[in-house]
Amino acid sequence: MSYQKIKGTLDFYQQEATKMRLIETKAKEILKTFGFEESITPIIEMTDVFIRSSGENSDIVNKEMYTFLDRGNRSITLRPEGTASIVRSFLENKLYINSPVTKLYYCGPMFRYERPQKGRYRQFMQFGIEVFGEESPFLDADVIISAYTLLSALGIKGIKLKINTIGDFASRVNYTAKLQSYFADKIDDFCEDCKQRLTKNPLRILDCKVDSEKDVVKRAPKIKDSLSDASLAHFIEVTTILSMMKIPYEVEDTLVRGLDYYTDTVFEFILDTNDDLQGLAICGGGRYADLVKNFGGPDISGIGYAFGLERIMMVMTNQNLFTDIDKKTDVFIISLDKESKRLGLEFANQLREEELVVEMDYKNYTLKQQFKLTEKLNPKFIIIIGEEERENNIFTIKDTQNNTQEKVKKENIVSYIKSKKQ
Ligand code: ATP
Ligand code: MG
Repeated sequence: MSYQKIKGTLDFYQQEATKMRLIETKAKEILKTFGFEESITPIIEMTDVFIRSSGENSDIVNKEMYTFLDRGNRSITLRPEGTASIVRSFLENKLYINSPVTKLYYCGPMFRYERPQKGRYRQFMQFGIEVFGEESPFLDADVIISAYTLLSALGIKGIKLKINTIGDFASRVNYTAKLQSYFADKIDDFCEDCKQRLTKNPLRILDCKVDSEKDVVKRAPKIKDSLSDASLAHFIEVTTILSMMKIPYEVEDTLVRGLDYYTDTVFEFILDTNDDLQGLAICGGGRYADLVKNFGGPDISGIGYAFGLERIMMVMTNQNLFTDIDKKTDVFIISLDKESKRLGLEFANQLREEELVVEMDYKNYTLKQQFKLTEKLNPKFIIIIGEEERENNIFTIKDTQNNTQEKVKKENIVSYIKSKKQ
């Protein structure tokens, strides 16, 4: 019987795993300079955590969650996104007591029951951030700058920021009413989801995957005409800073994002490269002024974003940005009998303490077979241990890059290789 991975999931091994970790490491490095610390939360949460945050009418809650009853009959969900868990953890551990502003990043697998296709999986990796405790538009700008810096540090070309404001609560009430009266006599031609949205969340009609290209949608009232003074001023400040920082952005007034919790600034980074990845969404985020309060916590505003790591990997592979990720062996130890293998293991572990990558033959291969192994691994040095070498305490070290070989005393092997490796 042979097993296959579940539809919509991926295996990452060797170079592919190296690529993913490389992105993760770079992201952590950059975010550290912005003052972020890590948060690690469980992959499973009570289902209510996600219903409360994403909104009962969001696609995620309606169609995409992996929900099950555990043996104690509790409804449990595999997290479909990071924000809800981080908010839950932020509140449960009262992080707001320690400092007025909390900056967290997270990285891990998310689960959504979606139709699998290129760049869309049922288990995928997200790297994201959340900041709590600051409402200033300067923070919105700085958060967006951190995402842009990160993508630039990875070398990705052709990234474009799409940004919009969906206003504060007052602006939304105003805008929702306008949309409802605008769409009331037009909704018959729309998809079933949009018919539901008209009463529950008409903003989502604007980015419906089925209907958003319709002319009537494009002519719908714009949020910018319904904004409160505070929301308008907030958005102007954010975009002024982005212009000053020369971050290429486009205001897209139909961008509303898929989760119900957003307020004011919402954004997405997409790829604008005119190739087969054109338009690919790699990062999405926004501000959520009321989410913490809706969770039963204090009135603390938050803002965050998340990247899809598989999509970033796809883009970076496409743009040839992964170089020098092959496995490298510094030293291979050839040993010709049992006693030599024991000594070989001792050498290997002395060298590894110096952070050298050392491999050896564990079988009883002949000298010729062991040399064959080195062809694949391509080590910089080969040490040969046989009976004669052991007796004289002098070992042959082959420098494969310079094609030279020397005899070196046991106690000098580590320093010899270290000095020649530079
Ligand atoms: P999309 O419009 O592509 O469905 P989304 O709005 O659902 O994206 P978010 O919830 O904002 O996405 O997640 C942030 C990022 O996570 C996306 O920009 C994308 O890179 C990645 N992502 C989302 N869903 C998936 C998925 N099913 N498979 C792989 N990556 C995903
Ligand atoms: Mg989605």
